[in-house]
Amino acid sequence: MPESSNISLPLLQDDAAGRRPLVGLTLDELSAIVAGLGEPAFRARQINEWLYARRAPSFEAMTSLGRNLRATLEQRTTLRTLALADAQRSEDGTIKFLFRTHDGLNIESVLIPSEARDDQDEPKRQTICVSTQVGCPLDCKFCATASMRLKRNLTAGEIVEQFLQVERYAGEKITNIVYMGMGEPMLNYEQVFRSVAIFTEPANELVAARHITVSTSGIPSAIRQMADEGQKVKLAVSLHALTNGMRSELMPINRRYDLGELMDAVEYYYRKTRQPVTYEYILFDGWNDTDADIKRLAKITRRVPSKVNVIPFHEIEFTDPTGISATLRSTPREKFDLFIRKAREAGVMVMVRSSSGEDIDAACGQLAVKHDATSLTGR
Ligand code: SF4
Repeated sequence: MPESSNISLPLLQDDAAGRRPLVGLTLDELSAIVAGLGEPAFRARQINEWLYARRAPSFEAMTSLGRNLRATLEQRTTLRTLALADAQRSEDGTIKFLFRTHDGLNIESVLIPSEARDDQDEPKRQTICVSTQVGCPLDCKFCATASMRLKRNLTAGEIVEQFLQVERYAGEKITNIVYMGMGEPMLNYEQVFRSVAIFTEPANELVAARHITVSTSGIPSAIRQMADEGQKVKLAVSLHALTNGMRSELMPINRRYDLGELMDAVEYYYRKTRQPVTYEYILFDGWNDTDADIKRLAKITRRVPSKVNVIPFHEIEFTDPTGISATLRSTPREKFDLFIRKAREAGVMVMVRSSSGEDIDAACGQLAVKHDATSLTGR
């Protein structure tokens, strides 16, 4: 094997030790590396299989590659750029992971078992919620991640690595993926859909497109792009408020792209893909849970086939305590149930999403923000 071989890896940066991350690469890109190493082409397919379908934990485990190639890969490339810094298991089985990136930043992933059980009384689905950015540039008033601001986008490799590491740690096969962790996925469109392509490549045996949901706070151009590209994953849109005045107060992105523009993009998406849309709706006491809101919700969700995930608000410590953030409270249980009943009567297809992992800071961004704050204060 020539010592001077060049390993050319587009789009991804070296890890801290100068090694090239392999997770996140496509078969074509692995083929370029293999050619650069002077190895026969079939090695790329083998490496691809070890990386994804066989979930190899180390180069050592890639036994079909031959000792020399494994040693070279070990020296020049890496399988892991994220260090697991913390894992918290909730009473309901949810596990929250804190990872440190190679450049010392904190991101989170959450593994959520479904309440539905199979014949062996095991959860029917294991869903990972992945982060797409370190922090977030948007400033949703109910969100802990918002206080971190945006530090950087994650690479496709870092997104896929969250999946692989969580699966290995939990010893559970992950069946579903939601892009709903830290960050706005549509503001990191290229890397998000690059990771989707890796997850959904049949040879990789990871997750089918119909079991993947990409969520957005509402970036109309990206929703249209998804439709134009014929992306097969599901689309979820965070609504949370149903008038422009209220939504702009809660989610400042609405000042840039208002509800009219957002819903036009959703209609465009449905016309092109014929895929129903999921709306996320967090219930805040006395704020968006009135009878008038139910009427508005019924009207807006009638525009395309859809369902609404109604989510209890999990009060958090880290939002900016001024302005509206200081006033948001969770809707009491009885009122919450009444809202659901009335919304159903009004024709809205409602799903109730439990606030999984309430005892472990599972709301988006809380664990990472806590760790950031701890390292800043030295506690
Ligand atoms: S809710 Fe999502 S989009 Fe809004 S600030 Fe938090 S991470 Fe960003």
